[in-house]
Amino acid sequence: MKEEIRAAFIAAGASAVGFARAEDVEPAAMENYKEWIAGGNHGGMDYLARHASLKSHPSHVLETVSTVISMAFSYAPSVWRDRSLPVVSCYAYGYDYHDVIRNRLSPVVDCLRERYGGDWRICIDTAPLAERYWAMKAGIGKRGKNGSVIVDNCGSYNFLAEVLTSHPVAPDAPTEGVCLGCGACVRACPQKAILKNGNIDARRCINYLTIECRGEWEKGDKEAMATDVGRRSLYGCDICQRVCPHNRDVSPTAIPGFLPLKGIMELTAEDVADMDQEKFSSFFKGSAIKRAKLAGMRRNAVNVITRTRSHLEEP
Ligand code: SF4
Ligand code: SF4
Repeated sequence: MKEEIRAAFIAAGASAVGFARAEDVEPAAMENYKEWIAGGNHGGMDYLARHASLKSHPSHVLETVSTVISMAFSYAPSVWRDRSLPVVSCYAYGYDYHDVIRNRLSPVVDCLRERYGGDWRICIDTAPLAERYWAMKAGIGKRGKNGSVIVDNCGSYNFLAEVLTSHPVAPDAPTEGVCLGCGACVRACPQKAILKNGNIDARRCINYLTIECRGEWEKGDKEAMATDVGRRSLYGCDICQRVCPHNRDVSPTAIPGFLPLKGIMELTAEDVADMDQEKFSSFFKGSAIKRAKLAGMRRNAVNVITRTRSHLEEP
């Protein structure tokens, strides 16, 4: 059963698939997460604080769970946006990973349910699961200092997903190792946002400020968004991934849904600044970028335009 399941998910496009016994998340991992929340490092992502205790056991997501099947899907880019354009994080070059991965996993899970019975649930980023913890428990990747999970063949350019099942399946060996520990990500982060233990202070991170942060930026945020990196960001920042040696020479993703879309690769700040809600909804339909909402993307675009202009006008 186990190898049949693994093979089915690999055939669905996963780069790595591992199995972990569903049990309490280790106290040290929960403590680390709670400390991160208590320190306010989650910024305005209040749902993370609200759901923190639910992450202690996957039964909060599927009551009958016996096994967590963790998997990683590569989005390693084959090309990058032109340097003359503002940055869009490469995970958003293709279609929205929630849709792409769910469309790939759903038929497999339907078949498994029919064949073996029992309960099955697909989780892609939205359920209160300690995803990176389960990836390491299931042995599919190692923890990077930059907070990512590093997987053979796709480095940290991967989306994690889980399938929870009520079937007991023998677990794989957990990952023992960590990343190379070279510190390049810590040194390269323009915001000094990478904390110890691979935690990120979201409040300082350009990803958070341009994707998750709602409303207008506060004073400190504006300072961050006026820096060389901040003023080039339309949506996200890949610096701590681009410098990581684990990401060197990884093969580009073979998943068609993650291949770069022409519209996203050519998108300018001016395009976004000109959008109304109707145009925004239609342009970003099927894209993860819609998560930042029109107001957020316009805020980012105006920052790029005005800061770039004032930068060029400096004597
Ligand atoms: S995404 Fe950018 S700002 Fe955030 S931790 Fe990485 S390098 Fe720092
Ligand atoms: S850049 Fe170096 S320290 Fe950072 S995640 Fe990669 S290997 Fe680890």
